Amino acid sequence: MVDLNSQYQKIKTEIDTAIQQVIDTTAFINGPVVKEFAADLEKYLNVKHVIPCANGTDALQVAMMGLDLKAGDEVITTSFTFIATAEVIALLGLTPVLVDVDPDTFNIDPDSIRKAITPKTKAIVPVHLFGQSADMDSIMQIAKEHNLFVIEDACQAIGADFFAEDGTTSKAGTIGHVGCTSFFPSKNLGCYGDGGALFTNDDELAEAFRSIANHGMKVRYYHDKVGVNSRLDSIQAAVLKTKLPHLDEYSAARKKAADYYDAAFANNPKLKTPVRYEKSNHVFHQYTLQLSHVDRKGLQEHLAIKGIPAMIYYPVPLHMQVAYRDARYNEGDFPVTEALSHSVLSLPMHTELDEGQLKHITESVLEFVG
Ligand SMILES: *Cc1c(COP(=O)(O)O)cnc(C)c1O
Repeated sequence: MVDLNSQYQKIKTEIDTAIQQVIDTTAFINGPVVKEFAADLEKYLNVKHVIPCANGTDALQVAMMGLDLKAGDEVITTSFTFIATAEVIALLGLTPVLVDVDPDTFNIDPDSIRKAITPKTKAIVPVHLFGQSADMDSIMQIAKEHNLFVIEDACQAIGADFFAEDGTTSKAGTIGHVGCTSFFPSKNLGCYGDGGALFTNDDELAEAFRSIANHGMKVRYYHDKVGVNSRLDSIQAAVLKTKLPHLDEYSAARKKAADYYDAAFANNPKLKTPVRYEKSNHVFHQYTLQLSHVDRKGLQEHLAIKGIPAMIYYPVPLHMQVAYRDARYNEGDFPVTEALSHSVLSLPMHTELDEGQLKHITESVLEFVG
């Protein structure tokens, strides 16, 4: 699904030098490059604070702890996402409240959010799924009306823009009270191990997140709050600092591959190509088709024989996951999510897809689909 080696080869000298520099100075933890990368990312995102941490899941957890969410508080999120989003809600003893998604963008449906609000609701966690922003205009409006926090899960959408109704443009993850991202190797800005970060424009929240990610301390060995140990290590920061200047060119390469797929599948009634949401540009973390009247497993097997991976993100909606079974929810409660879980298929999507590969992939898909 991704080709991290070819991407590395193109910037090998820069990366090797940056990693060697960390080793030479042995500043493996909290080295200067961690702060330098955070400052570079603040500038790129146009956000006041970037707080690096160990991974995207931790970023979500630190965000919820830093906002002082308490056991029993309800947190509204989407039924169609990677499990990490709901996992941290459950781990903190908060109550996940799931809502359905939009069938075109796969993102959380604002009308369903409204219907799910109760006096216990404290936060909304929109996920900018597959690389484009959720409807942040509506979500921020709902949050304002009901005095709720908004925690953006931007793990799949770093670099995507949101074009607000008021004419402003902001990077996904910088609009809510806090944004969270992941630098997992296959994410759009991936390091060579685990990594993550929180974004916020709020000075007080930034201080709270920094402290919680650092064992709940502000002054060394004085612990005001229960925290966690969640750090981005210096080698990963060095990789990310080297890759960040390439992020826009990486997004453009993904979009070019998506354009090729779109053109090849246009007008095929059995393949619904990803709908490009007018309020966001798409950074194509995934290129996800919706199939109709196609044997999905058969297509996957056909592609596998031709050496083409194709993945189902996500085969089981959150409310149907064994660990998250809940008397509040039944099969049929989230019809859009459930239909998507039966019909989606993601094709290879990365920065290194060339025309030969794209031709091979699209021809192989059409050969099976007809
Ligand atoms: C990858 C991802 C996460 C978790 O990130 P990790 O760095 O793997 O912990 C959370 N939410 C979404 C939507 C993701 O895609």
